[in-house]
Amino acid sequence: TTRVSLDGLRKTFAGSAAPAIQHLDLNTVEGEFISLLGPSGCGKTTTLRCVAGFEFPDQGRVRLNDEDITDLPPEKRDIGMVFQNYALFPHLTVARNLAFGLEMRGVGKADMKRRIDEVLAMVQLTTMAERYPRQLSGGQQQRVALARALVIEPRLLLLDEPLANLDAVLREDMRVFIRELQKRVGITTLYVTHDQAEAMVMSDRVAVMLGGRLLQFDVPEAIYLRPRSIEVARFIGRSNLIEGRVEGMTDAAGPYPTYRIRTPLGDVPACYDQPLASGQAVHVTIRPEAIRFQNDGPYTGHVQATYFLGSTVEHTVQCAGGQSLLVQTAPSQRMDAGVTAAFAFDPGHAWIVAADA
Ligand code: ADP
Ligand code: MG
Repeated sequence: TTRVSLDGLRKTFAGSAAPAIQHLDLNTVEGEFISLLGPSGCGKTTTLRCVAGFEFPDQGRVRLNDEDITDLPPEKRDIGMVFQNYALFPHLTVARNLAFGLEMRGVGKADMKRRIDEVLAMVQLTTMAERYPRQLSGGQQQRVALARALVIEPRLLLLDEPLANLDAVLREDMRVFIRELQKRVGITTLYVTHDQAEAMVMSDRVAVMLGGRLLQFDVPEAIYLRPRSIEVARFIGRSNLIEGRVEGMTDAAGPYPTYRIRTPLGDVPACYDQPLASGQAVHVTIRPEAIRFQNDGPYTGHVQATYFLGSTVEHTVQCAGGQSLLVQTAPSQRMDAGVTAAFAFDPGHAWIVAADA
């Protein structure tokens, strides 16, 4: 299988002031499932289209393994792509939709039939081969689009927000379906989404993008628990960000050293994996589910509002120094709005974001 390497990619569209991709370096390993995650307009689709060959970068190279494909037309790249709107041919049956790319590539009749049957079985649409797209549900059309991308036996699979048009339940089923299929085929995959839960659940690694740049590229757990910038902390899940100053290191043991950070809440223990100087200004991020109400907890705040979400309850808590915190608990641990509550959190769940990181 294939490694993808994007090296210094840059793309400015004619007539726009800001580049859609500022500078992008990204290297995958073979068989990896990578998500490009970021808000609308951050350059995800443009990146994917540069890889597919529908756009050409102004600068930088695109490589598959060690082959430079930057200047090849799309049909010479052996890349399968699935678009958000499926882009199926409405006047062709499912089987004909799949045959199209094979005919273009000069695949013989017998081989074509075998490959179409195989890929339809993979996406569980064997009985739908003679239907037209309009006779299929949205989820089935999406699977045809996936089959059409895979039938050419591509070296790389690209998916651009393929689940955006599906309803919530089907979307969750399709996450698993696509990931399992990708593993079985063993194909390196770039997956574009603005949905952070989707990216977390599906990916080996997540590339977080903002404003045409790569902010952080790491395994989902690291992106979530150890954000490298305030932007990543903000974009991934909801995070509490607390300004503070480094007082000193309190514990060098454990997977990451613990520092004492002076904040408006009081002194807070938080972890970091780089050396920090005393007095240095930092932010501490604490996930809402890492805070618990506890009578003898070291911090206090005023519960302003409580939101019941079913499996969890969220509280907005106003603390000293104007610091507001979001606290998520199990329903059995809920606090009522209007009370003053003490709380604590595990130092392992507070992570430092340093300005110079
Ligand atoms: P995303 O997929 O992350 O939402 P895009 O890659 O589609 O972002 O777009 C990135 C930026 O490039 C946006 O500001 C968008 O308006 C601009 N852009 C995208 N395609 C074109 C185009 N064909 N011509 C001009 N500007 C474009
Ligand atoms: Mg897009």
